[in-house]
Amino acid sequence: GAVVEFEDVAKTYGDFEALRPTTLRIEAGEFFAIIGPSGSGKSTLLGITAGFVPPSAGAIRVAGADVVAIPPYRRNFGMVFQNYALFPHMSVAENIAFPLRMRGCPRAEIAARVSRMLAMVRLEALSERRPSQLSGGQQQRVALARAAVYDPLLLLMDEPLGALDKNLREEMQEEIKKFQSALGVTVIYVTHDQHEAAFMADRIAIMRGGRLEQVASPRGLYERP
Ligand code: ADP
Ligand code: ADP
Repeated sequence: GAVVEFEDVAKTYGDFEALRPTTLRIEAGEFFAIIGPSGSGKSTLLGITAGFVPPSAGAIRVAGADVVAIPPYRRNFGMVFQNYALFPHMSVAENIAFPLRMRGCPRAEIAARVSRMLAMVRLEALSERRPSQLSGGQQQRVALARAAVYDPLLLLMDEPLGALDKNLREEMQEEIKKFQSALGVTVIYVTHDQHEAAFMADRIAIMRGGRLEQVASPRGLYERP
C-alpha cells in the first residue's frame, strides 16, 4: 500500500505558488527521486512530507496518518541533508545512537542497533572518531546510519551527495541503494542530477515551477523510442 499520500497539497508564500496542487502516492519500499532545477519546489515538497513546512492546502498522510497532526517526536522519518548535520562534539557512535536516546530506547537495544548500523555502513573501526576526523563520504555514511537506526518508515534525502566529488558520489549511490534494499525502507530522494536519479530510483518525478511535470520510471522517462 501507499506510505505517502498527497491529496491536492499546495504551498504558497504570499501569492507565490511554491507547490501547485499536487496529488501523489508513494508505495512501501519504493525509491522515489525528485529532480528539477533550483527553485522548482523540491525542498518544499520534502519539507511538507517531513512535517516542517505546513501546507497551505490539501492533505498529506504518511502511513495513513495526517502529518500535520503527528507530534514531532512521534514522526517516524529519517532525514539526510547535503551538509550531513552531524553533532560535532559527539563521536560517530554517539551520533548514531542519538535518535534512540531521544526516544528513550533501552541501553542494550541502543548498543545492538548502533553496532548493526556501524557494520552496515562499514564504520566499526571509526566509531570513536569525531565527525571532523572523517572524510566527506564517511560523514555521509554516519548521517545515513543515524537516519535509519530506529527503523523509520521513510527516509527523506535532500541532495545527500551534493558535496562529494564525482567518484565518491558514484560509490555512495551504490552504497545508498544497497542500504535501502537491505532495510526495505521507502525513500524520497531529491537531486538535481538526472543520471543519479535514473541509476537509483524506481520512479522519478520531474518538477518545474512548483508542478510535478512528469512522474515515471527511469525507462519511461529516458528510453522512449
Ligand atoms: P528547490 O528545492 O527546487 O530549489 P524550493 O522548494 O526550495 O525549491 O523553493 C521553491 C520556491 O519557493 C523558490 O522560488 C523559493 O524561493 C520559494 N521559497 C521557498 N521557501 C520560501 C519561504 N520561506 N518564503 C518565501 N519563498 C520561499
Ligand atoms: P573514504 O573514501 O572511505 O570516504 P578516504 O579515502 O577519504 O575515505 O580516507 C581513507 C582513510 O583515511 C580512512 O580509513 C579514514 O579513516 C582515514 N581518514 C580520512 N580522513 C581522516 C582524518 N581527517 N583524520 C584521520 N584519518 C582520516
